[in-house]
Amino acid sequence: MEQGKKLVTVLGATGSIGVSTLDVVARHPERFGVFALTAHRQVDKLLEQCLVHRPVYAVLDQADDAGRLAGQLREAGCATEVLAGPDALARVAGAPEVDLVMAAIVGAAGLVPALAAARAGKRILLANKEALVMSGALFMQEVAAHGATLLPIDSEHNAIFQALPAGFERGLQGSGVTRVLLTASGGPFRRKPVEELRDVTPEMACAHPNWVMGRKISVDSATMMNKGLEVIEAYWLFGAEAERIEVVIHPQSVIHSMVSYADGSVIAQLGNPDMRTPIAHAMAYPDRVDAGVRPLDLFEIARLDFERPDFERFPCLAHAYRALREGGVAPAVLNASNEVAVASFLDGRLRFDRIAGVIARTLDAVPAAPADSLEAVFEADRQARELAEGFVSGFAS
Ligand code: NAD
Ligand code: MG
Repeated sequence: MEQGKKLVTVLGATGSIGVSTLDVVARHPERFGVFALTAHRQVDKLLEQCLVHRPVYAVLDQADDAGRLAGQLREAGCATEVLAGPDALARVAGAPEVDLVMAAIVGAAGLVPALAAARAGKRILLANKEALVMSGALFMQEVAAHGATLLPIDSEHNAIFQALPAGFERGLQGSGVTRVLLTASGGPFRRKPVEELRDVTPEMACAHPNWVMGRKISVDSATMMNKGLEVIEAYWLFGAEAERIEVVIHPQSVIHSMVSYADGSVIAQLGNPDMRTPIAHAMAYPDRVDAGVRPLDLFEIARLDFERPDFERFPCLAHAYRALREGGVAPAVLNASNEVAVASFLDGRLRFDRIAGVIARTLDAVPAAPADSLEAVFEADRQARELAEGFVSGFAS
């Protein structure tokens, strides 16, 4: 390997973020090489990616899928070795050869491999917000203890990171920061009459006005749970208390977030809504490289609008603030019940306007507990999933 070339493991390579990451990698072959690519079950897509990027390892969830991929790679004369299962994910995230780990698995399944990257002291490019929501305290401790670097990929958090002063880790107030302004598009149903939300289909919820994303995060954007998860993510990444994090609806998604300071300054990061910007920023940091993103044309945009969020239309946002204030395992319970409710909605087993109800009931039902060990977090996650399944069935009958 050439000197200075960084080797990347992409966890969740076949997803929306994974594909954008590989696009940025391919634009800079002198800077980046691929060590490992992982996917859940998308054998064909992973095969295609392996043939282009020639990673050392490819990882799938199931052994039979891995066997199939290995056979196809051999036939194509590709030397990539195929592994299977969660232990293999942790192995390719923490391998000594790896410099950068893109954590882009969706949901709770991404937590353990992201932690493995933290424990191995890697530069972690964190897209998987659910990992921080579930176990922010433990995650941040592991990052600090092992000298890992955590760079946010979520566009809002990447924007905030760019707008914060150096040394913000020592405390926002000491840095003169008064508020973090988290922008939100408001999703596809910002203007839809509330009584029509009961008839929303998965196709309607996944048709986001500004961003093309995986199905789970698209539904989260439509309920605004995505913004709720991002409030909790901002709390852990930047040490910003709930009172200092303000959600601002900004339908054009051009300002990706802002930081306001004691002297009256507000610093914003702007750009076209394209995830390759935060991905390229975090991969090349502190350098700046071409991301393939169309330059921002302010004359074409012409205006930027702002609104207050409506907590009645978007109760999930209120539930997320509640979980953050309760602390302990409450955010893990919020996340798990949301994953169950969203999956049920996508399967046609739960009405869109009942997602928030499943989450609220689960938050009420799981007892408060400190999130002081991974076992405590996983136990709360397990209880929440079981209870949430019950509430989904209750709504169905
Ligand atoms: P996606 O559904 O398009 O892709 C998910 C990836 O994870 C796929 O490669 C899939 O194979 C893999 N995966 C899913 N379940 C798995 C499991 N159980 N074990 C192993 N691998 C598994 O999702 P996405 O839109 O790329 O989002 C990925 C993460 O990034 C999410 O946490 C999301 O919240 C976050 N994020 C996404 C965007 C975006 O624009 N897409 C923006 C900000 C943050
Ligand atoms: Mg975001």
